[in-house]
Amino acid sequence: MKSKYDMLVVGGGPAGALAAKTAAEAGNTVCLIEKRPAIGTPIRCAEGIGKELLKEFIKPDPRWVSAEIERARIIAPNGTTVRLEQDKAGNEVGYVLDRKVFDRELVWQAAEAGADVIVKTRATAPIMENGAVRGAKVLSVGTPAEIRADVVLAADGTEAQFARWAGLDTTVPLREMMSCAQYLMTDIDIDSGSTDFYLGNDVAPEGYLWVFPKGERTANVGIGISGRKSRDGSRAKDYLDRFVAKNFPGGKAIECIAGGVPVCRPLPCTAADGLMVIGDAARVVDPLTGGGIGNAMFTGRLAARVASECISKGDCSKEALMPYDVEWRASRMGKFLERNYKVKEYFVTLDDKKLNALADSIASISLKEFSVSALIKELIKRNPMMLFELKALKDALD
Ligand SMILES: Cc1cc2nc3c(=O)[nH]c(=O)nc-3n(C[C@H](O)[C@H](O)[C@H](O)COP(=O)(O)OP(=O)(O)OC[C@H]3O[C@@H](n4cnc5c(N)ncnc54)[C@H](O)[C@@H]3O)c2cc1C
Repeated sequence: MKSKYDMLVVGGGPAGALAAKTAAEAGNTVCLIEKRPAIGTPIRCAEGIGKELLKEFIKPDPRWVSAEIERARIIAPNGTTVRLEQDKAGNEVGYVLDRKVFDRELVWQAAEAGADVIVKTRATAPIMENGAVRGAKVLSVGTPAEIRADVVLAADGTEAQFARWAGLDTTVPLREMMSCAQYLMTDIDIDSGSTDFYLGNDVAPEGYLWVFPKGERTANVGIGISGRKSRDGSRAKDYLDRFVAKNFPGGKAIECIAGGVPVCRPLPCTAADGLMVIGDAARVVDPLTGGGIGNAMFTGRLAARVASECISKGDCSKEALMPYDVEWRASRMGKFLERNYKVKEYFVTLDDKKLNALADSIASISLKEFSVSALIKELIKRNPMMLFELKALKDALD
């Protein structure tokens, strides 16, 4: 570990790995630090990602693709199942990864491109000079040290502590922090070609429960519920245990994880003097699905490209780094985040009766072209009692 780099990346998840790789390939000196002793473990993820999205960043490899998915099914509280085949389900179908191997592969590629990768090294505070971030104080295998850099990329995930220490407000309202629990289950009867999403206030209040296959009789079975719905006896794990006991009574849980997913709007600003915020730390998780792997890689790569130019020009001020913020907001991803935030805000207001009514309608609709706008129009026709709220949603999305 040197004491000065062009770029310091805090966090070795997909956002940090793509940033480190991109910046190193551009000829910068890069250091990526990860607080855990190993990249990729423990995982906190259901590991699903859309095929096209993944391929934007890396060629799929059987070493870290656990399963290929052909369809998604949404199961309403009354059991009505909406089937979405590959062409209509977008990022809800694709691959279920093995993130322990996938995350390592991404960081491996960053290292191969020339980045220094240092595990068991935790950032404890930014080095601040005249209001600008100039590096990080770290604890490396228990020993305090300082790493200076022209620019620091905060890729430290949901906790987003680094940006907060540097003065950005990264707080997530309780209702928008999904509280998650997941088992890796084996010996269960599943449709191994389908990702299943269970909805309903008794199943997963203001969230959903998922079954993401990882093979013939193995799946990630998990749940996310709104933080405000989590209380003694009704925590995410309680709902999950009830579902598992009912649906997979003979199954065996061979791994158990818990974690939080921010489903709020992105940070109001993701650049500051000497600092860029990427991935979950920037709150760019899809608020509707909770998926964030692709967006983490997208923001990591984009931030590193912008930073590389700034480093070469010798100006890493907020103003110089801002094109990153502007560009991702104007991108397809940025627009999707805004749209899906509005759809999510609508869905969390629905009681089971309305969820059932919508699912019953959607299950019987055959749309030639699948678009959210066409779908809402059709739903209004079939659910006149929900005219006003559906119209408000349509207007918000137009
Ligand atoms: C239960 C659950 C299920 C999910 N399912 C899916 C899914 O199916 N599909 C999907 O696309 N997304 C899913 N997500 C979200 C997805 O996991 C994240 O969006 C993605 O990992 C974000 O990548 P990241 O690099 O921004 O952050 P992370 O992957 O969280 O990486 C951040 C890294 O920073 C390290 N770190 C933190 N603080 C410090 C520090 N101070 N110093 C050094 N290192 C530090 C952490 O140890 C971690 O390795 C899920 C999340 C959860 C919790």
